[in-house]
Amino acid sequence: MSHPRLTVLAGPTAVGKGTVSTYIRDNYPEVWLSVSATTRPPRTGEEDGVHYYFVSTSEFESLVADGQLLEWAVVHGRNRYGTLRRTVEEAMAAGKSVLLEIDLQGARQVKESMPDANFVFLTPPSWDEMVRRLVGRGTESTEEQQRRLETAKLELAAESEFDHTVVNDDVRRAAAELVSLMGIHPRDS
Ligand code: 5GP
Repeated sequence: MSHPRLTVLAGPTAVGKGTVSTYIRDNYPEVWLSVSATTRPPRTGEEDGVHYYFVSTSEFESLVADGQLLEWAVVHGRNRYGTLRRTVEEAMAAGKSVLLEIDLQGARQVKESMPDANFVFLTPPSWDEMVRRLVGRGTESTEEQQRRLETAKLELAAESEFDHTVVNDDVRRAAAELVSLMGIHPRDS
């Protein structure tokens, strides 16, 4: 069986996509994990060029205007995030197994331009677990909690747009399943 060289990992907010991709970065060097551009400021411990390319709003606008982004989106109504077209195309041309960890809006854009890519949806182990993660410690108002749950329902409904679903019950197991969908032999776990 041949595997497409580009895999897109997306899923609802708070499902743990970042944790799975960090695990893959640390444990599967044979996966070429795309480094996105973002206007969000770096968090403690994040390095420019490793976790993201941290750019200003005007730099981001130039990337968009020059057609340098394969996809981009405003995430959580605030910051902009986008995938650099050239680095992804070069990695694919070099025969690497490329992984994009992006939001749903971005995944839909990639589906338009690269319908043959491999689209993987990361989902929580159960709706109850999702509610627990989203509602958190009850510090948000009831309206805010309701709003988050409505968003989560809409996001979960996107699963049918994807080729595969991986349940994030355990980060190591979920990462192993994801890399095997990419044609990479998972580490013993
Ligand atoms: P964070 O700010 O926590 O690192 O990421 C927030 C969200 O942005 C995550 O849902 C992540 O999937 C998404 N994201 C990261 N990079 C990109 C990108 O290049 N494009 C899109 N569309 N979303 C991205």
